[in-house]
Amino acid sequence: RDSYAHTSDKPKDKLLGGLLSPGFNEPSCLSRYRSTIYRKLSPHKPSPYLISKLRNYESLHKQCGPHTKSYNATVNLLRHHHPSHDISNNSTCKYVVHLFYGHSGFGNRMLSLVSNFLFAVLTNRLLLVDQGDHTALLCEPFPDTTWALPLDFPLRDQFDRFDPNHSHCYGNMMRNKTVELSMDDSPPPFVYLNLVHDFNKHDQRFFCDRDQNIMKKVPWLLSRSTQYYIPSLFLMPSFEKELKKLFPEKETVFHHLGRYLVHPTNEVWGLITRYYETYLAKSDERIGIQIRDFSSAGLPFLNSKELASLETIFMDRILDCSVQENLLPKVITNTQNSSALNATRNTKAKSVLVTSLISWYFEKLRNMYRDNPTITGESVTVFQPSHEESQQSNNAQHNMKALAEIYLLSLMDELITSPWSTFGYVAQGLGGLRPWILSNPLSEMDSDSPCRRATSMEPCFHYPPSYDCEAKIVIDTGARVHQPNHHTKGLAKSRDF
Ligand code: GDP
Repeated sequence: RDSYAHTSDKPKDKLLGGLLSPGFNEPSCLSRYRSTIYRKLSPHKPSPYLISKLRNYESLHKQCGPHTKSYNATVNLLRHHHPSHDISNNSTCKYVVHLFYGHSGFGNRMLSLVSNFLFAVLTNRLLLVDQGDHTALLCEPFPDTTWALPLDFPLRDQFDRFDPNHSHCYGNMMRNKTVELSMDDSPPPFVYLNLVHDFNKHDQRFFCDRDQNIMKKVPWLLSRSTQYYIPSLFLMPSFEKELKKLFPEKETVFHHLGRYLVHPTNEVWGLITRYYETYLAKSDERIGIQIRDFSSAGLPFLNSKELASLETIFMDRILDCSVQENLLPKVITNTQNSSALNATRNTKAKSVLVTSLISWYFEKLRNMYRDNPTITGESVTVFQPSHEESQQSNNAQHNMKALAEIYLLSLMDELITSPWSTFGYVAQGLGGLRPWILSNPLSEMDSDSPCRRATSMEPCFHYPPSYDCEAKIVIDTGARVHQPNHHTKGLAKSRDF
């Protein structure tokens, strides 16, 4: 564990191998340059090409950011657009606006934010975020400018009405053949991209080169997504080469871009560091267990008895996984005649950080290690920062806790996560950790393994497009993919969004 610098005040490699720009005022966002006080140095270095691309992006953002001359000119196209205006001019700044999707949790939002950012970088556009989003809990990521979409942005009052049937929804426009290649001559000033999990095959044309070519000239792309759609960008010939250059290690995309973009504000950073210092810093090893509980997720098809038994199954899997993978020791419940108790004294201290909406699992685990000795003699102390009982995605205090807990999980040495949870994906990506994913108590009822190691630290794309651009039919995209953790639908994810 030499690479830790836990309670020392001096961050090592504070620019993360050149990933971060040095051009920020440090006190305004402590988390940006202080993460390595708490987190392992990453063995994955950003490529020099990624670094240069990010620096170029930052200067583009400064040049075209909100309220610059170029921004004002492009916004004006939304106010006074006339088909004869030449908006396909190459010198016009172009934008991707990350729209807020009310029902999704913090994990989903971070995954779609990072996806939209990479898409913006690949297409030489600027990323602006709708301030209704959780991004208010994050520091500005680009120096000397802002990524917040100005409050006076002209289309703001239409955001709620953007849906797959909106006249400016790209899929809908394609279905009705309103644009097609005529976009070349007079592209519309804006297009809405519907990239939420239930997008239809017309919306999925976003992932076709031909359609990207059509969109190229549209100054404003307004994107609403809930997903980590980056794996599908790797499948597009027009982006594939560039992506390989940017990310020679393809399982590090979220790891680098997440560390580049996700910097909690000082208020959230205070929550994270106080908790860490008080409960976690002093132990020899830290294990994070992220429990996305099925009973609190309101699964309509299960009654309370079935839910209670699901909890028990899940708890057993957590314990079996921890012991099987040597993450936590077994306890001795019969101490009367146990020879194990006489073993040499082991002074190793382990901390377990449990995150969950409920406290049931935490209490079981804490009591177990409090009331019984472990066979190895190690001490195990269990903590849980909050139990919010239910998801409240539009409550700022609630979201602050969610971000703090995701971040704390990312500081652990090892992670056990819940299946199909983007909350865990963000933690594993930021931390550069390959977690043990618990077997799903719903879809893998008879699994003989309590958990399995994730193939990589990359998040999964839960609902990849099934539209084949060449054949123009719906196919199984999962079969074509070589991107790590690119999953096709297995279990209908009804509990979030
Ligand atoms: P997913 O639904 O598991 O993919 O993760 P999301 O983060 O997208 O949505 C779940 C939301 O529920 C989170 O953003 C939180 O608001 C809340 N939530 C779920 N699990 C936890 C937890 O362990 N701790 C806290 N504080 N909130 C949680």
